[in-house]
Amino acid sequence: MRIIDTHCHYNDDQIYPIVDEVITRAKAAGVQAIFNNGDSLASFTRILELQEKYPDFCHSVLGIHPEHAAHDQAYFEESYRQIKNNIDKISAIGEIGLDYHYSKDPEYVQAQKFRFIEQVRLAKELHLPIVVHSRDADFDTLDIIRQELPEKVDLHCYSGSVEIAREYLKLPIDFRIGVGGVCTFKNARVIKEVIQYCSEKIILTETDAPYLAPTPHRGQMNESSYIPLIIEAIASLKMMDVEELAEKLYQQGLDFYGLSK
Ligand SMILES: [Zn+2]
Repeated sequence: MRIIDTHCHYNDDQIYPIVDEVITRAKAAGVQAIFNNGDSLASFTRILELQEKYPDFCHSVLGIHPEHAAHDQAYFEESYRQIKNNIDKISAIGEIGLDYHYSKDPEYVQAQKFRFIEQVRLAKELHLPIVVHSRDADFDTLDIIRQELPEKVDLHCYSGSVEIAREYLKLPIDFRIGVGGVCTFKNARVIKEVIQYCSEKIILTETDAPYLAPTPHRGQMNESSYIPLIIEAIASLKMMDVEELAEKLYQQGLDFYGLSK
């Protein structure tokens, strides 16, 4: 089975010290490529370092997560400078977006929107896909995507409804949903409906490791070697053959990130 993990964080303190073991286990499970996603300016260093150490395996997605939206202008300018300086190494801008889960303070929401739009425009300028984090912000995220129309969008760890997915599918963009461990949870009704409704052609497999480990590892550290559990869950929801689906998801993941040979 050939597999791709389009969204993880090997730079995270939980994984980074044991990253060699995690990569060995991932490769043994069939994983061919992983995409480390940035969240802060500080995260860029380890992500680029990992790509240098594992050039055909670790890929880099750099961007500033909405939880860092309150940083000052100098912080963002430096982030964009580093992204542009590493343009030949990065596969996408991410993870960027909106997160209203912990605070809906109007000033903070405004800053999140401003930095999200700014980074969407940067991705358009650099002709890169975007990886979007959207939590409790479905409509505002959709509004910004609708207004900016970036070329390629991965809504990572998709948590919206079928109705929201339908709205994205109407737009003239290459729209994908990132599907990870949540689809293996017994009570995760909405994502299961979304998987059944949408074509498998728009699904990107991801872990969000070290977070959101699939059943039966729920609550433990997540890692890319668990992706087969996610593919099995998708295959059973879509009544498809696991091996065939895995190969499709692998190829379209490579295609989305421009890595197909
Ligand atoms: Zn993430």
